[in-house]
Parts: sequence; C-alpha cells; structure tokens
Amino acid sequence: MFKKILIANRGEIALRIQRACREMGIKSVVVYSEADREAKYVKLADESVCIGPAASAQSYLHMPSIISAAEVTDAEAIHPGYGFLSENADFAERVEQSGFVFIGPTPECIRIMGDKVSAKQAMIKSGVPCVPGSEGALPDDPKEIIRIARAVGYPVIIKASGGGGGRGMRVVHTEAALIHAVQTTKAEAGAAFGNPAVYLEKFLEHPRHIEIQIMADTFKNAVWLGERDCSMQRRHQKIIEEAPAPGIPRRAIEKIGDRCAAACKKIGYRGAGTFEFLYENGEFYFIEMNTRVQVEHPVTEWVTGIDIVQMQIRVAAGEKLPFVQKQIQMRGHAIECRINAEDPVKFVPSPGRITTWHPPGGPGVRVDSHIYAGYFVPPNYDSMIGKIIVHGDTREQALARMRTALSETVIEGIQTNIPLHRELMVDAKFVEGSTDIHYLEHWMAARKQR
Ligand code: ADP
Repeated sequence: MFKKILIANRGEIALRIQRACREMGIKSVVVYSEADREAKYVKLADESVCIGPAASAQSYLHMPSIISAAEVTDAEAIHPGYGFLSENADFAERVEQSGFVFIGPTPECIRIMGDKVSAKQAMIKSGVPCVPGSEGALPDDPKEIIRIARAVGYPVIIKASGGGGGRGMRVVHTEAALIHAVQTTKAEAGAAFGNPAVYLEKFLEHPRHIEIQIMADTFKNAVWLGERDCSMQRRHQKIIEEAPAPGIPRRAIEKIGDRCAAACKKIGYRGAGTFEFLYENGEFYFIEMNTRVQVEHPVTEWVTGIDIVQMQIRVAAGEKLPFVQKQIQMRGHAIECRINAEDPVKFVPSPGRITTWHPPGGPGVRVDSHIYAGYFVPPNYDSMIGKIIVHGDTREQALARMRTALSETVIEGIQTNIPLHRELMVDAKFVEGSTDIHYLEHWMAARKQR
C-alpha cells in the first residue's frame, strides 16, 4: 500500500479523500490555491503545498505545479478527485511519466471515454445501447446534417464531443433552426473545450437519468455497484441523487449493470467509473461515461457498504477487488442533497463568510462538507459547499430523515439552496418517485407563476 498520496483537488472531495487516507493509515499531501489557505483540511493535512493563486488555471489546473508538489513531498500516488484534472488524459499521462501512480484509469481509457463521440463508438462495440443519433461527429456539409437530423427525427440535441458539466448542448425542435444551432455549438465548443467537434442525438422528451457505478481492478475483474437516479437537475446539473432508482424493475437494472461490467473488461478499465444513461419507456440509452469518482458516490457507498474512495486507492495500489458480483447487495435507500452557496430562487452564487454552521446529525445522516463557522466561501470555484446524505430502510424513511436533517441545518452569512431542498422533499411528485430530468425545471417555472 502507498505511504503517501497527494490530493489534487479542493473542497469537500479533498476532505473526503483525506479521510479515506487517514482510515487506511496513509499520509496525505494537500495542494491548495491562495484562496483556499484557510480551509480546515489544509490545516489538518499531514503536509500541504500552496500551488498558486486563486485562478484555477494557475493552481488546480496547473499540471507542473501539482507534479512538483508530489516530487518535493515524496508522494507516491495522486488522487485527482472530480472536476479539475480528473478526466484529463494528458495529466494522467504526465503523472505516470513522472513516476507517480495516477489513481484512476489509464490515460488511453480516459482519452476514449472523455471524447463523447469515441465513447459512444466504444459502447456500441461493447453492446451497450446508446441514444440514436449521428454516427460519430457531424460533417461540415449542411445538406448532410439536415439529412442526418431528418433520419433521427426532431427534436434533436446537438452535443459537443468534448463537452462536460452540462455545457455544450443545444436542443433543436425544427429544421429551420438546425444549421445555426450546429454552428453556434461548434464555435462554443471550440472556445470552451478546445475541440469544435459536435454530434447529434435524438432529444428524449421524458427520460430519467440513471447511472451505473462500476469498479474494476487491474486483473480484469469488474463489478457494478448498483444504480443511482440523478434526474433532479437544473441546467443539466444534478442537485438530488438517490439509490436505488425508484420504480425500475430489478431485472432491467441487472441486465444493464452486467453490460457495463462486461464493457469495462472489454476496454481494460480500472478503478471507479460511472456509465450514465437516459431511461425512457423501459429502455436504457448510454450518454456518457465518467472516468472518476462522482459527487454522488456516497449514496452508493451507503446502500452497498463499500467505500468507493478506498477501493480506488486499493485498486491503484495493485490490489484485487475483494468481492465478486453476487456478493454486492443493496440495502435500504439513500438520498443526497447537494448544498450550493447560491440564492435558492435566482441561483446567483453567494460566496462570502459563513457565520453560523450547524450541521444535522442523528441516525442515518452523513454530512460531507469542508465548511465551518468563520469559513470564507471563495468566489473562484464551483458553488457546491457540501452534501447531506441520508439512509433509511425504505425510501419513505430516507425522505423523512432528509426532511429532519434539512430542518436542523443552519448556515448563516451566505445564501444556500437548502430552502429549495426543503420544498422538494415534500413535493408530491418527487415523493412519489420516478420524476424525469425536466421535472425540476418545470417545477421552478410553475413556482415563478405562483
Ligand atoms: P455532461 O457531460 O455535460 O454532464 P451529458 O451527456 O452527461 O453531459 O448530459 C447531461 C444531461 O443533459 C443529461 O443528464 C440530460 O439531462 C441531458 N441530456 C443529454 N443528452 C440528452 C438527450 N439525448 N435527450 C435528452 N436530454 C439529454
């Protein structure tokens, strides 16, 4: 096992990884930007290295600074967390070339899966069902594009091959709007992701977002750890996740889960990963794979009893998976609410100093957050400041626990989306389960009218 791991991330996930290291008796090195100097996990770290100013480009995205931090502290492996460099194949390659272990899949796997067009092609080859659409990237010829869209049928969605984080997507309802939409998305994708390639998919009108967590080792063993329902989204960004997904037949989930595990073996995948699907009328359609730990991993940890971050570390250190598929059992129900520093109605970010922080507790409640009273939420990064996760024997019990947890939580000094979560946890349709990916946006539009 490693003696020392460098954590190339910030915020709650940096703390989460630090905790996993502590439990395993591994020393951790935290890198931080000047804006994160005051973070508690930085102060509590075995070692910490300032890698630059607040701007991510000069700190958390700056590969040479991170690699030199690993060199000067004698770390053996680098955990990239999520976001930042976690899905950057060049980074994974540079980490390995510099003699460190990258806690994640091989650079080749990240490269294939990071490009949505090549990921879809790999999935089709592995027998994983995909959303109907263009075969590969769209050509330049407008006539060809029109032909492809007609064959797929409107509405369609134009998606950037290099896109991520809910950006680089455009829905098109009519042929008249098609070419302009393709050109705009291409221009945006070129500027934002350095890759102007776009592709086209059928826009599904009422799908749910269902994803499969997988874990694979370097001995060609791969298992899937159940599913998550992440349909509650705003602007393609998840805000509530749960496991298992309500109302989907177990047999259907098992079938798709087995396909995902088989695909992992086929592509030589290692570590944790997530296959994301849209689910509509009883069918699953692959949309993308995330080659890293996800924000919502705790709901899976809770229903399976498996520590995903520790498993990532074990697999990276060359250990075999300690379980086979039939040993994976799901128990009870888990729900996660992402807590964002933002106006709960207008969603404008609300950075600033937290004056009061009273976290919830009690049976079946977990809080993953790096904040504390007196902590300054910097304006430079993502607005997510933590997650409240609950577990119950049933979905009803989990919902009840989440309501209690949210009612106990006090954060003062900044605005958060906790009031929004409180409303959603008593919303009749959400409580019933099985809402689709457009539900939250429609709900918010209706709330504006009230
Ligand atoms: P990103 O990498 O930016 O997260 P995804 O491909 O995972 O992009 O898509 C994010 C979200 O966008 C999905 O969860 C879904 O809400 C919506 N979406 C993507 N593709 C489609 C589609 N073909 N039809 C309907 N909604 C879609």
